[in-house]
Amino acid sequence: MLELRSVSKTYGSGAGATPAIGEVSLTVRPGEFLTVVGPSGCGKTTLLKCMTGLLRPTSGEVLLDGRPVTGPPADMALVFQEYGRSLMPWSTVRKNIMLPLRARRVPRAERERRADEALAEVGLAGFGDHYPWQLSGGMQQRVAIARALAYRPKILVMDEPFASVDAQTRADLEDLVLRIREAHDITIVFVTHDIDESVYLSDRIAVLGPSPTSVRELVEVDLPSPRDQVATKRLAEFGELRTHVYRRIRRDEAGSPPGVASTAAPAPGSAGEDAERVGSAS
Ligand code: ADP
Repeated sequence: MLELRSVSKTYGSGAGATPAIGEVSLTVRPGEFLTVVGPSGCGKTTLLKCMTGLLRPTSGEVLLDGRPVTGPPADMALVFQEYGRSLMPWSTVRKNIMLPLRARRVPRAERERRADEALAEVGLAGFGDHYPWQLSGGMQQRVAIARALAYRPKILVMDEPFASVDAQTRADLEDLVLRIREAHDITIVFVTHDIDESVYLSDRIAVLGPSPTSVRELVEVDLPSPRDQVATKRLAEFGELRTHVYRRIRRDEAGSPPGVASTAAPAPGSAGEDAERVGSAS
């Protein structure tokens, strides 16, 4: 569905050049929940901006359904960490949700219907006439999710969306995104630096190495669905996966060369990807 072919990105040029992405090749499967996890500063946001057409890669290409991505595609919606800056404070919640639909020329009655439907779906029915600043951080992020939903994207890209909310709200929002994904059969790419979150949410985790980043490993997550904050996190497989991902990232932080100090032998990958399955099934 979404394909990154040998994507690299260097900011600036000459002596001041900062290579942020070494080389990343990655294919997002239709309908999957893929998280991208890696240490701070490794290049996650840069990668996401290249994926969404907000930044042009220095080399390589990004394809969505076989077509080159040169700007944010119509089929894609984005949710950022900074909900405070992504919602317009002078517009009501409903109008914030309706705005991208207006740009898409959706008729007004349909815009309103979709906005109210999306608000109900994120648990904010009745808040359409509020202003974003009247809501808590978690509620504002629900509005950002509702705005993405009302847009009816095929692919939803989220950049550390829950990094600024408290732990309980974060857990609620994680479960909300999982429910939305089930209900709408949407493909989700979710960037996080939180290993537990990546294991809890994903079908697959792309573990990134340090800057300039590359995909160190693609980890299949075979945990049963629907996920549950208590039951899933008590599973032995959950613990094994989080330990595995943690070690891969720590190894990278320690600067060890690839292929050293891995917790499990990688299975033969495809297309140059270091694919591996861990957990009770391995
Ligand atoms: P992450 O999202 O994983 O924290 P980023 O993608 O933000 O990482 O950054 C990756 C690297 O690229 C870092 O070394 C960062 O300093 C650098 N970088 C990010 N944005 C820019 C920019 N606009 N200009 C120059 N360097 C940048």
